[in-house]
Amino acid sequence: MSLLNVKLIKCLSDNYSYIIFNPITKKAIIVDPAEAQPLMDAIFKLNLDLEYILITHHHNDHVGGNIELKNKFNCKIVGFADDSNRIPGIDIRLQDKEIFNFEKENIQLNFAPGHTSGHIFYYFKKNKYAFVGDVVFTLGCGRIFEGTTNEMYKSIMKIKSLPDDVEIFCGHEYTANNLKFCLEYDKSNDRLMKRAKQIEALLNKNLPTVPTTVLNEKQTNIFFRCNDKTISHKLDLVGQSPEKVFEKLRQLKDNF
Ligand code: ZN
Ligand code: FE
Repeated sequence: MSLLNVKLIKCLSDNYSYIIFNPITKKAIIVDPAEAQPLMDAIFKLNLDLEYILITHHHNDHVGGNIELKNKFNCKIVGFADDSNRIPGIDIRLQDKEIFNFEKENIQLNFAPGHTSGHIFYYFKKNKYAFVGDVVFTLGCGRIFEGTTNEMYKSIMKIKSLPDDVEIFCGHEYTANNLKFCLEYDKSNDRLMKRAKQIEALLNKNLPTVPTTVLNEKQTNIFFRCNDKTISHKLDLVGQSPEKVFEKLRQLKDNF
């Protein structure tokens, strides 16, 4: 199996773009180029051969570097077929569940609407990485701009259903605020209290709180815990469906 490295690149004010590369062959992929310059600098510095750009959704802070990088490196842009008219410079259009091969890795595109109607995430099956854009964040989830709450809930559950040890790479550093929200409604969660200390230590040093793992999020991300009785009790929604709990949580977070 090929072991791919992931290099996190800070872009704009709080975006994360990613360079995934084979350290031996130097072949590389970018996920969600928020802007071209910091990515170009890293590609040159690491002496990489950029082959593809993978896009999770059409928002400008995820595709902003597409055209400049494509012109510079002559790479191919990959995205969801059903949203291809909104992805600048797209070359390769994939369907839901379709697998894309890169350096012996099988990368699966997974439809995950809610934040936008054409949002998808990429699952690297062998390396156990998930690049999730703005569906899920460390201790949080994306805002619902183009979908229904049920669609968003289902999309989050798709990520929750991946193996526990999958590493989750998200599109933004929103963790400070997400942590505050989780603490507000899930204070009795001992694992959350423990994780809060670890996260605060990272944030104090201005270090990324990414990647997280599926297991970490299952235990401490309140949006992954909509089926937990302590959460529904806290929200006065005892006996309600997890979708209802999710709807309430998302509303509360929108105004937090
Ligand atoms: Zn977005
Ligand atoms: Fe974004």
